[in-house]
Amino acid sequence: MSFDKVLDQTVAVRLLRRLLRRGRVPHGLLFWGPDGVGKRLAAAEMAKAVNCTGGQGDDACDTCLPCRKTEQGNHPDVMYLVPVKRARIINVEAIDSVNEMASLRPYEGARRVFIFEDADRMNAPAQNHFLKTLEEPPGNALFLLVTASPRALLPTIRSRCQQVRFGALRPETVAALLLERRDLPRETAGAIAALSQGQMARALSLVDSDNRDVVIDITRRLATGDDPLAVSDEFAGFLAARKAAAEAAVKGETLPEDVADMTREDREALKEEQVAAAVARFRRDLMELLYLFETWYRDAMVLRATGEEGRVLNRDHLDFLRGAPEGDYGGKLAAIEKARVYIERFLNEERVFRDLFFELAA
Ligand SMILES: [Zn+2]
Repeated sequence: MSFDKVLDQTVAVRLLRRLLRRGRVPHGLLFWGPDGVGKRLAAAEMAKAVNCTGGQGDDACDTCLPCRKTEQGNHPDVMYLVPVKRARIINVEAIDSVNEMASLRPYEGARRVFIFEDADRMNAPAQNHFLKTLEEPPGNALFLLVTASPRALLPTIRSRCQQVRFGALRPETVAALLLERRDLPRETAGAIAALSQGQMARALSLVDSDNRDVVIDITRRLATGDDPLAVSDEFAGFLAARKAAAEAAVKGETLPEDVADMTREDREALKEEQVAAAVARFRRDLMELLYLFETWYRDAMVLRATGEEGRVLNRDHLDFLRGAPEGDYGGKLAAIEKARVYIERFLNEERVFRDLFFELAA
């Protein structure tokens, strides 16, 4: 069965299947919950299920022609609204074309399905415009709104959709998926799964970036008497590289196809949006680094206090954590929290981390 692919979301899947079984799928469904837990997959399976002709009615059969077409992305009644151009905004024009298409009868399926992969990327005018669509839904359209930030949507949009809540994945699920998708020692997969807070996207980014290696290397050096000033000088180079990488990634993702035809004004606006997006991405990186430092010292503290290895997140480094020297771990955790507040207040990150390293070394 098709919803079987959506792991660990028993409550959400049960709700969706009940709506399908009773033939009471509303016009708007809001799939919300953390990133990387299966919301998009569930939306794709729901799109398949409403137009499936071969199943029991409460799931997709995965074998009929409509199911196969949807799976391959060429069912004419299933449309994805993905924020692409211009700093990933869904604008009024995009909603206009949704309205236009939604008012037409389905080509071949039972319903026209519109999947908003990042519904929170609708800007304010687009949301107001879309609200009218939800108030008087044209034809038999089904809108699947997917978001990790439901609060970025107008309360009136939220209240007009049936809400489907998604929770974190179990660590065992994340570990198993990681072992399927990446070449990793089992021990590392277990540690990353514990650190990922049940979010597959986060687990993959932890595997694919070197943030964790850098954090562990620094904590080891600080614990064995390396000069925090030397450590922070080196770390400044790492931060600069991450900043540059964030800028490059944003440029690559937001380059519009029609850049040659853009007005000067549009080009400047695009540049501003790119800068803002790069800053946001870099800050997510900084927050992840702080989170990793925090887990490390929390692990050391828990291990010293309770000896319970099962509660350790960085369980692939148990040997080192077991031998961690005595120290004021509460104070170190407070210093990390302070650094987080400073980063949130946009203080210079190099200085914030240098001060932090002095406190962690003490
Ligand atoms: Zn089917």
